Amino acid sequence: MAKKAENIILPSDENEADRKGKASPEDAGEAGGKKSRKRKRRVKKARRTRRSIRSRLMFLLVIMGIVPAAVVEMVTIHSYESRAIEQRTVTVRSQCNALADQLATRDYINNQDDDVINPEFDMLTSIYQGRIVVMNRDGKIIKDTYNLDTGKYSLSEEVQQCLRGSETSHYDDENQFIEIAMMITNPSNTNNTDIQGVLLISVSTSEIHANTVALEQQGLMMMAVVIILILILGYILSSVLVKPLLKITSAIEGIEVGYEDEKISVPDYRETQLISDAFNSLLKRQRSADETKEEFVSNVSHELKTPLASMKVLSDSLNQDPNASLEMYKEFMQDISSEIDRENRIITDLLTLVRMDKKAARLNITETNINQEMEGIIKRLTPIADKANVRLIFDSFRPITAEVDEVKLTQAFTNIIENGIKYNNPDGGWVRISLNADRKYFYTTITDSGIGIPEDQISHIFDRFYRVDKSHSREIGGTGLGLAITRQAIAMHRGAIRVSSEVGKGTTFSIRIPLIYVV
Ligand code: ADP
Repeated sequence: MAKKAENIILPSDENEADRKGKASPEDAGEAGGKKSRKRKRRVKKARRTRRSIRSRLMFLLVIMGIVPAAVVEMVTIHSYESRAIEQRTVTVRSQCNALADQLATRDYINNQDDDVINPEFDMLTSIYQGRIVVMNRDGKIIKDTYNLDTGKYSLSEEVQQCLRGSETSHYDDENQFIEIAMMITNPSNTNNTDIQGVLLISVSTSEIHANTVALEQQGLMMMAVVIILILILGYILSSVLVKPLLKITSAIEGIEVGYEDEKISVPDYRETQLISDAFNSLLKRQRSADETKEEFVSNVSHELKTPLASMKVLSDSLNQDPNASLEMYKEFMQDISSEIDRENRIITDLLTLVRMDKKAARLNITETNINQEMEGIIKRLTPIADKANVRLIFDSFRPITAEVDEVKLTQAFTNIIENGIKYNNPDGGWVRISLNADRKYFYTTITDSGIGIPEDQISHIFDRFYRVDKSHSREIGGTGLGLAITRQAIAMHRGAIRVSSEVGKGTTFSIRIPLIYVV
């Protein structure tokens, strides 16, 4: 419907367009766009208002105030009305009972010129603003205080029932009157066998109705006052309730601008304090992540710059020395080449680490023969071990197959065994690799007879670029990233790694990996 309305050009719109010169279709489109944007903004605003705690609280309070008040009012007024009607019926009935007795004793059916009864009729009709009709046994109306139907016959349901011996009374809600039909019988005839006629009385209840309407109006007025009071109270209450939440928002916004070491604290409610605490701990984690990132970036640039600086020194000394011999050239070029290798290694390791860091990093899980995989690693590392005069010993206690990412796990094990060779005794030593499993995990321990790691540094060896002895590690081609990659790969497999070491004696890495990979 709303869309259709947009397309209708109203006369006033047309005039406006004429005054400004004919509007192009683009203008019309633009105007339509503006309108719909405005409407969207309005809808958004209304939705925001509906969603606010304040409007919901006020709505709730109004409902909680109005519903019980309306119910109480309805019940009270209804019970007042039915009680008033009941009382009126009882009063009229008792008066008419007496009148019916008099009619019978004075034989009014046969003689309507009665100086006692007729004034009584007048009195009753004027008190109750009603009408009295008297009928004989045949249903012939012999007296009508309205003088409308005298002489006519009326055999309505009530009259017939009455003639059969049962009196009726009913309340006509719509026309607001009570109608009572009574037998005219001789008071001495207690079993109602001698019915002389019927007395029919209609009594107006407009006065009761007027009272009810007045009461209803008063009730509505009261309700309006209650609603206004509730709205004022709700506004104040919701302002008080919402204030701490607004405080939290502005505190958080303040931090967005100022950052640094700030914290937020809104102890107004237990809940707001909990939100503040949660936000503070999130902030702390964010800051520490930022610091780690910054440290990592500065480490990366430092590590990447070091080989470049060496290359620069080497090439400058060659350039500046006019008498440099061919031998010197060869030697320096060899050094430059090994610095390039080193730079290459760092970049490769960094890329591996970054790829593993990504949240989306997926493992390529396959059913792998771990014994075979380990034998392959040892075979590939044997030439390096031989060169370093280090013996590789492999103890395999049982055949093991596990669901692992073969490439990532091979890299993890290779790094540790390679470290065992690199940081071994210069006079030669050994690296023992053992493989075992139970029903849930397989276990690898890699022990070397090397230089060991000082106790206070063990907790750092998995950090990126951390090296116990920087120059020694550099000398033997370490990047400081190997164990960081290893830890990441094992964590991705939901495994665990532990280190124990003694300086001068050797180091043991114990690794545990689940046999079945659970996502
Ligand atoms: P790197 O490339 O320098 O070897 P890693 O991350 O593999 O880097 O290891 C970090 C540091 O931990 C090494 O520089 C070394 O000081 C120490 N380290 C690692 N493995 C051993 C080991 N088996 N024995 C002694 N020190 C080790």
